[in-house]
Amino acid sequence: MFGPAAKDPALFFYLGFVGSAAGLSVYMVRSILKKPAGVQNNHIFTSSLTNRGLWGWAFGIFLTGFYVVLYWGSDDLWNDSPVVLLFDPISRGLFNHAPDRWFLYSFVYTVSILIMGVRAILKYRHSNYQIIRTCSIMFFQLGFAFLIPQFLKAMSQPEYYFSYFWPLDYDILFPNSVDALLSNGALGVWMLIISAVLTFIATPILTYFFGKRWYCSWVCGCGGLANTAGDPFRQLSDKTMKAWKIERWMIHSVLLFIIGLTILLWVNSYLEGGIFGSISHTLTKVYAFLIGQAFAGVVGVGFYPLLGTRVWCRFGCPMAAYLGLLQKYFSRFRITTNGGQCISCGNCSTYCEMGIDVQAYAQRGENIVRSSCVGCGICSTVCPRGVLNLENGSTHTDRENGNPITFGNDGVGLKMNL
Ligand code: SF4
Ligand code: SF4
Repeated sequence: MFGPAAKDPALFFYLGFVGSAAGLSVYMVRSILKKPAGVQNNHIFTSSLTNRGLWGWAFGIFLTGFYVVLYWGSDDLWNDSPVVLLFDPISRGLFNHAPDRWFLYSFVYTVSILIMGVRAILKYRHSNYQIIRTCSIMFFQLGFAFLIPQFLKAMSQPEYYFSYFWPLDYDILFPNSVDALLSNGALGVWMLIISAVLTFIATPILTYFFGKRWYCSWVCGCGGLANTAGDPFRQLSDKTMKAWKIERWMIHSVLLFIIGLTILLWVNSYLEGGIFGSISHTLTKVYAFLIGQAFAGVVGVGFYPLLGTRVWCRFGCPMAAYLGLLQKYFSRFRITTNGGQCISCGNCSTYCEMGIDVQAYAQRGENIVRSSCVGCGICSTVCPRGVLNLENGSTHTDRENGNPITFGNDGVGLKMNL
């Protein structure tokens, strides 16, 4: 380096970073606003980046590599590394503590959701549902998953995330975590109470009224990243029956794993290790490595450009499994269809990030009541015929009936087999 850059490299890095981000944002906004409002997915299947071409693979390898180094890179590699130190002014300026790899990750994650959230709002600006939903995702990520935990840490309190709770925050109800919170005075006790209330009371109630979308598409940071930064890759989800079968086995196995592990740890704690010894702690490490890191992080985000954006939510997230069971057996949420209007264009199935073959339901005029549906509403947004509607009915029991009357080009039909 030479000249002024040699004297203050960090300042020049920030100027370069902010300048590039501003330039990219202006370019993005201009290119989206140049087109009329409405879904514009032109060239999405011919672009190398968004259709598993060379750029797609390169980006996937880069993301995966980043997560591998993030989770398993040694402390020597990260501590005092120039990349982390670049965030020192932000971390100290806002929160008065030194940055570490997790601050860097959290910051980049949040900025990605904010910038790409603006893109999503502009792209789907013809849909109020998408605009409000995206604002909600950005709000929860910025406030509840970044600012509040960082402020708590700055005040030497537990770095608690109000938007993540058991079973997604898998160790919050483990005996060690509970003890740690209880030893933190009144605030720790309140955090524990809030966690339990969110998991066992608020989740069933909200899912009864709104389906799993209230969390997966309005609050959760994993869904938030998928619906903003991951939006250009949503069409890559696997729609086959085989994928659906694998999905059901995997996601419910993970849920059983974490329920069993939590119970085991409490029994072990009660018996002071009398029966299970160190097995439960080994299983905790296995879960943390396989599910918490390899699946949720490395595969969940690293494979966006190869497998689509909801791989984690669809195949591995225990919270999605819990919400899905509530949605299927308890909720009033459904996507209604007017099959007579459907022209079988396939847009809805193509852009369903959860791999649901929406078109097949629409053609039959059946309501979509799948446990995996996260209620993102994109199927409805991209439908050129207004066939699909996300609705909260008056009861759970009538949700599979579908519309008895279908309106189509050939006239009005009445379904007699309801
Ligand atoms: S069915 Fe529609 S609302 Fe449900 S996940 Fe798929 S695109 Fe989203
Ligand atoms: S997007 Fe609409 S018209 Fe096209 S297949 Fe789906 S329901 Fe039918």
